[in-house]
Amino acid sequence: MKIGVLALQGAFIEHKKMLARIGAEPVEVRLPAHLEGLDGLIIPGGESTTIGKVAERWGLIEPLRGLARSGRPLWGTCAGMIFMAQTVLDGLPDQQMLGLMDVAIRRNAFGRQVDSFEADLAIPALGEPVFHAIFIRAPQVERVGAGVEVLAQLDDGTPVAVRQGNLLATAFHPELTEDERFHRYFMRM
Ligand code: GLN
Repeated sequence: MKIGVLALQGAFIEHKKMLARIGAEPVEVRLPAHLEGLDGLIIPGGESTTIGKVAERWGLIEPLRGLARSGRPLWGTCAGMIFMAQTVLDGLPDQQMLGLMDVAIRRNAFGRQVDSFEADLAIPALGEPVFHAIFIRAPQVERVGAGVEVLAQLDDGTPVAVRQGNLLATAFHPELTEDERFHRYFMRM
């Protein structure tokens, strides 16, 4: 399977490594032409405002929406989650978004860089054992629409992994761990 990784900015190399490890063929996506023939796409963590700006400059916004509309799976981690959301409560006035997932997100809700944290999550879709999740200036999901399934949440109930049909988003970074289960879950999608 050929899986694209949006390679404009952020932690795309780590996703590529994990994909290769589980037997997929990772493809760096920088231009609309790179989307041809992909079976799915990952949007990495990084800085959502920068990813949006560069995506707009290279004419990727509509082609990325088209990929999602075609039913192929899209997965956003962290900044990728923000970029995929329909609503960003504290986005920049001109922040470019794909506007795909029926969720409302607050960027940097957990605080600044020093407030990054790790948590062990029970994720029924992945089974045992718990998943060690790394949060880096993570976005907070404040509302999920009726069609959105919550796959994982923090102890206080905050959703941190959500799925809406072919769309998947995680506030944390599975590509920064050795745990392949989230990438395998995405391959099954
Ligand atoms: N807070 C960042 C943003 O607004 C996301 C951080 C990350 O992707 N690790 O894009």
